[in-house]
Amino acid sequence: MLSSAPERLLVRGGHVVDPASGVDGVCDVLIEDGRVVELRPELPAAGARVVDADGAYVLPGLVDSHVHLTHLANPHAVRTNAHERLARAGVTTAVEFFDFASALNQWPASTAGLTVLGLQGIRSHQGTASQAVVRDEIAAALKGGAIGVKILGGHFPNSPDTSARVIAESNELGAYCAFHAGTTRHGSNLDGMRETVELADGNPVHVAHTNAYLRGATADVDAENRAALDLLMGARRVVSEAHLAEFNVCVGSMTDGEPDDHIVINCLRLGGFPTGAAGLEKAFLAGYAHVLHDAGAEPAHVTGEEGLRLWRQDPGGTMLNFPVNNRFSAFYQSCARVGATGSLNWSGDGEFVVDAISSDGGSWRNVILRHGFSLVRFGALTTSQLVDKASRRPAQLFGLTAKGHLSPGADGDVAVVEPNTGEVRLTIAGGRVVFDGENVASRGGKVLTTAEGAAAITARGITAEVIDLETSTFRTRITRQPAPAA
Ligand SMILES: [Zn+2]
Repeated sequence: MLSSAPERLLVRGGHVVDPASGVDGVCDVLIEDGRVVELRPELPAAGARVVDADGAYVLPGLVDSHVHLTHLANPHAVRTNAHERLARAGVTTAVEFFDFASALNQWPASTAGLTVLGLQGIRSHQGTASQAVVRDEIAAALKGGAIGVKILGGHFPNSPDTSARVIAESNELGAYCAFHAGTTRHGSNLDGMRETVELADGNPVHVAHTNAYLRGATADVDAENRAALDLLMGARRVVSEAHLAEFNVCVGSMTDGEPDDHIVINCLRLGGFPTGAAGLEKAFLAGYAHVLHDAGAEPAHVTGEEGLRLWRQDPGGTMLNFPVNNRFSAFYQSCARVGATGSLNWSGDGEFVVDAISSDGGSWRNVILRHGFSLVRFGALTTSQLVDKASRRPAQLFGLTAKGHLSPGADGDVAVVEPNTGEVRLTIAGGRVVFDGENVASRGGKVLTTAEGAAAITARGITAEVIDLETSTFRTRITRQPAPAA
């Protein structure tokens, strides 16, 4: 059932939901040479292999705008399952948000026919980095094939001045720039998020996972959520994404008994534990700290004595999870929209304040459809709105004009999904069946990069395609402020 090469495929009889073309009903999709050719009810099979989508939703493949393909604690660990897990979750395009160079290093061992692009994390500089140092680091990221950089603030902070420089220089160089809020001045919380917008100073910036700053560290969670949405609506040249997962992920390494990753300190504080190694040990025994154990077919979150044992074995090579992502914030940030009268709403029509629903996981979790369809059942999103936030808008964030929709000429990227549960029945990427409900294809895929990065990708033996960020929402967004009510 898996395809070894793009073939003529007819996805037949499913309920197509494609906000871009306005289709929301039973329809067939014909794919040829890796692209959508036609979208119409009752197309003739005419030599095409028929994919039966009866009783299922047929959606544009998901564009996961924030994933982690690499092992965060150990960049040399090759994750053979990183792309496979995404294909199983209906994702056909993924944006690496930490270490694109390592994601490319592990490419030969982990591909599954997907389209991948990515950001390179900016290292933590001592003091304030000079403009030249910052510029060189961004230019090197572009030359290596990344479309831009990510400021890792919350985890490994830079000074406010260095962070501001990274945003400004990214703008100068035409690079994408995402920011996990936080500097040496403010933490990974609402204050850090406000600071991110201030430091951007009108230059384009992508505020990563807005929900993750809203855990009640600065005020009541509901007040924080309102303030964050007001901030996003009033900000100039800001785009954002939020995720729906319960667990976060951070790094278990310690120096002199103190966590290297500031997020670990945040989580321990939030759980009422001392912030050093002894506090982390208590947090394991209390069932709060978890080790992300990724040896089996599915990742496991291990807590208690066993989790503690796994962490002690290799603190520096361990990824940690804490159940810190507030459910209220996940709902608020994913569903908030501005209605025609300018009021903030949680159902009905409107312009979403946060651009996309991401996974912030990718290799170890992707709950976009599983939790997304919960919101559909709940009445907070329509299926069409879910597709908009999981496929169409994230594609637009990065200027991917052939992604996130099923109009003729679009890339042949399709997720066939069970209604209600959001379980993925089948995934087609670039006109190939890469997940047939049981198995995942083990080779191929392509990297989207800028003109500066194409040579580096090709030199690795990977198919490269150049994208134009100038058309992206990231570059073209001016403001979210809704038009005043008539
Ligand atoms: Zn992340």
